[in-house]
Amino acid sequence: MDTRVNARQSMPRIAVVGGGVAGLIAAWDLARAGCSVEIFEAGDRLGGAIGAHTMSGVAYDAGAEAFATRSPVVPRLLHELGLQDLVVAPQHAIAWLQLPDVAAPLPATGILGIPADPLAPDVVAILGEEAAARAAEDLNAPVDGWAQEHASRGGRITLGEVVRDRMGQDVLDRLVTPIVSGVHSAEPDDLDMSNTAPGVFEAMLREGSLARAVAQVRSKAPAGSAVNSLHGGLNRLVAALQEELLRLGAVIRLNSPVNDLGALDVAETGHPDHIILALDAPAAVQLAAGMVDLSGLDLTGLGAVHSQQETQHEPEALAPGVALVSMVLNAPELDSHPRGTGVLVSPHVTEIGAKAMTHISSKWEWADAAVTRAHGPGHHVVRLSYGRVGQSSQRSLGADSSDEELQQAAAQDVGALFGVPIAPAQILEASVIRWRKALPQTSAGHAERIAALRARLTEQPAAGASAPVLHMTGAWFAGTGLARVVPDARATAAAILNSSS
Ligand SMILES: Cc1cc2nc3c(=O)[nH]c(=O)nc-3n(C[C@H](O)[C@H](O)[C@H](O)COP(=O)(O)OP(=O)(O)OC[C@H]3O[C@@H](n4cnc5c(N)ncnc54)[C@H](O)[C@@H]3O)c2cc1C
Repeated sequence: MDTRVNARQSMPRIAVVGGGVAGLIAAWDLARAGCSVEIFEAGDRLGGAIGAHTMSGVAYDAGAEAFATRSPVVPRLLHELGLQDLVVAPQHAIAWLQLPDVAAPLPATGILGIPADPLAPDVVAILGEEAAARAAEDLNAPVDGWAQEHASRGGRITLGEVVRDRMGQDVLDRLVTPIVSGVHSAEPDDLDMSNTAPGVFEAMLREGSLARAVAQVRSKAPAGSAVNSLHGGLNRLVAALQEELLRLGAVIRLNSPVNDLGALDVAETGHPDHIILALDAPAAVQLAAGMVDLSGLDLTGLGAVHSQQETQHEPEALAPGVALVSMVLNAPELDSHPRGTGVLVSPHVTEIGAKAMTHISSKWEWADAAVTRAHGPGHHVVRLSYGRVGQSSQRSLGADSSDEELQQAAAQDVGALFGVPIAPAQILEASVIRWRKALPQTSAGHAERIAALRARLTEQPAAGASAPVLHMTGAWFAGTGLARVVPDARATAAAILNSSS
């Protein structure tokens, strides 16, 4: 008999529920180690929030389009997949910030808008001298109170309260909120400090200052641009993972939503020893509750356990959707890239509905070449995003708005964002993509709640000697973005392999 078949028979059988990047990466590591792997994906394609859409015959990223380079995990993964030669840096390093009274380049040094040097000229240009001086008080004010708060509140500290206390309301309003609400679709007061800005709180306690903490965390990041992508788009990562999984004999089932783990149809690989839930937390919690007793756990922000009859409303409430409007513009006036790679918009700007705009063809050289090939010089690709929480001061546009409403708003906003008029006739093509449940929010204490939930899954395996062990991974558990999702998915796979060795 083939020795590889023998080896595979002794390896655990794995079912992965959710074919987003988290599920695919965990599946790939396990398939490479010799496990039988079967992936169940509800949609008609793999990749989840990483995918492609086509305009004028060119495929652009439909969701995630870049990865943070602050940790080596994503570059390492791309290298292992043989994609290292496709890695590209943005053509411009600078993005802009649109405030009610000014548009200015984002300060060069900072994390989520928290400045490493509150008195740097690009910070003062946005804050003004008085607010910058207030922010600089952080350099000398004692931090001991925060160590006590952290201990007494079991780590339940929000990003907003730390920034407000250390640097003042203006830093929050004019720097942090526009960035955080653009990236996470959430207000800083609703975001868990440790989860949103990993390592910064701990560094603040050590360094005695939030600014010095930011400088220290940033200094550990590798040199070069803060984000990179792949030539042709990040969606090539999904294509590569899919190809690898198929080569390794993994079974991929599309259009296969899983609603009951007990009824998992594992016809091809057999009853699984482990099930990886790589989908949104409300769905993962509901599925797990059918096998493991989750009572007594604090599931705030993670959904709730429902009886079969109850309707689930939580996912949308916990992760408001985002709508992206991509457009091809005939606009030679943008050849000078007036806003660098794009603009993040403060929620206080009432006349612009978008929360962010990416000038795709300015950011990525391959996209610039592609739109020029398709339409000739002077053409550009932009992407505007709509949908954030706490929109009281803004036109309330988001994933629930109609295509027409979104396209009309984008046609109006694009000129305001670039600071140059763009006539409707200059918009050659527009497409709307909606993402729901794809940007989870993490309230204070999220990390602790996740740890407790995961501990319950391992402490108290599903009933029955042959019952599978459940695991949860993905952005709802690890945090938004590939730099968080990739190591968590790989750690999940490694834990399964360790437990079986
Ligand atoms: C518009 C947008 C832009 C982004 N930009 C960036 C970026 O530039 N850089 C970055 O690092 N991150 C970015 N992110 C975040 C990043 O894309 C995500 O953190 C990451 O892709 C999440 O991967 P995941 O596998 O955890 O979840 P998902 O990608 O959400 O995958 C979950 C999968 O589970 C499937 N599923 C759900 N329910 C079931 C079920 N019952 N049965 C079977 N399958 C099910 C879904 O169909 C989906 O395919 C962006 C996200 C969005 C939405």
